[in-house]
Amino acid sequence: MKHVILGAGPAGVIAAETLRKNAPGDEIVVIGDEPEAPYSRMAIPYLLIGNVGEEGTRLRHGADHFAKLGIVVRHGRAKSVDTVKRQVLLEDGSSVVFDRLLIATGSSPATPPIPGIEGPGVHPCWTLADAREIMALAKPGARVLQMGAGFIGCIIMEALAARGVKLSVVEMGDRMVPRMMGPTAGGMIKDWCEAKGVSVYTGARVEAVERPETPAAAEPGLLGKIAQVLGFGADPAPAVPAAPMTVRLSTGQRLEADLVISATGVKPNIGFLQDSGITCLVGVLTDEHLQTNMPGIYAAGDCADRLVRLPCLWLESHSGRRLLCPAAKFGEFPPTVVPRLARLVTQSI
Ligand SMILES: Cc1cc2nc3c(=O)[nH]c(=O)nc-3n(C[C@H](O)[C@H](O)[C@H](O)COP(=O)(O)OP(=O)(O)OC[C@H]3O[C@@H](n4cnc5c(N)ncnc54)[C@H](O)[C@@H]3O)c2cc1C
Repeated sequence: MKHVILGAGPAGVIAAETLRKNAPGDEIVVIGDEPEAPYSRMAIPYLLIGNVGEEGTRLRHGADHFAKLGIVVRHGRAKSVDTVKRQVLLEDGSSVVFDRLLIATGSSPATPPIPGIEGPGVHPCWTLADAREIMALAKPGARVLQMGAGFIGCIIMEALAARGVKLSVVEMGDRMVPRMMGPTAGGMIKDWCEAKGVSVYTGARVEAVERPETPAAAEPGLLGKIAQVLGFGADPAPAVPAAPMTVRLSTGQRLEADLVISATGVKPNIGFLQDSGITCLVGVLTDEHLQTNMPGIYAAGDCADRLVRLPCLWLESHSGRRLLCPAAKFGEFPPTVVPRLARLVTQSI
């Protein structure tokens, strides 16, 4: 039996190790698209604070950990899944056949459509690569503006505050952590942040990120050109840009920032499943056993939605739990209608 697991995050790694325990003779291949050894995003705040180095973010230590377990971890990005030929096509043109497939591709930051957000100086804080960019800019005294004060946003914010930056947080909800906290708890978090010197703007949206006009680079003289040709003419880019960005808020306020962190939510990585026949709602839809509508194909972690048949129809996903309809009504629908029903209900929430 050959098990293929897409995604080398916590869901994929724990699934691979659990499979190995239960099926000592099976072939197990984990395919992840990040260049690093499997790591935990949850450790990124500790990296930002300086409590751990990159090594400390690794999910497993020891270069031969997976080899010793007979688990192949390979680099690659899934482009599509062929459920008939039972194979995954990778972006490098190769394909990997499977008997059983686990989709554990996690989620990625959802970038809101704000003018200027795609330019330099604006970063999500989701991957190790993001963390490296942020650490280069978030030096003591740098003006850092974070968009979003949800659960993960607050964890990032605490780590940034510990770096000694001048931190502002902009949250469009009327309180901090608005999807998890009521007004009292949200207000307490805001008071705590302000007491730590963080400027908090709730009920405010970022409308634009504006950058100063960059003056045309002065033409180097003859000696300058020679120095450039020899490779020692250019100064390295400063960690904190001399000219800050201006962030325009819906309240009319304008804030200066050397670094903008975008922490405005995530969306499941399921684009490659389009046309696969695997049913997706917000994420990949699974039953109580994490199996999709395709036998032998499963999904877990951030990319999965799970329908649970409690006394009601309940959808569990990384983005929250949603009550879909009472069991009495749910029972009236044949199984093939349930995903469509669930899609309709989630669209209307
Ligand atoms: C800064 C930060 C702090 C956090 N703190 C907490 C916390 O305190 N508590 C908590 O519960 N959660 C926290 N989280 C969220 C937590 O990290 C995620 O819920 C968790 O990583 C989900 O694990 P996963 O394995 O499902 O997905 P991921 O960890 O996202 O791993 C999925 C992997 O699949 C890869 N992949 C994606 N598409 C493809 C493809 N097509 N082909 C191959 N590979 C692909 C991805 O690049 C990634 O490497 C935090 C997140 C961040 C960023």
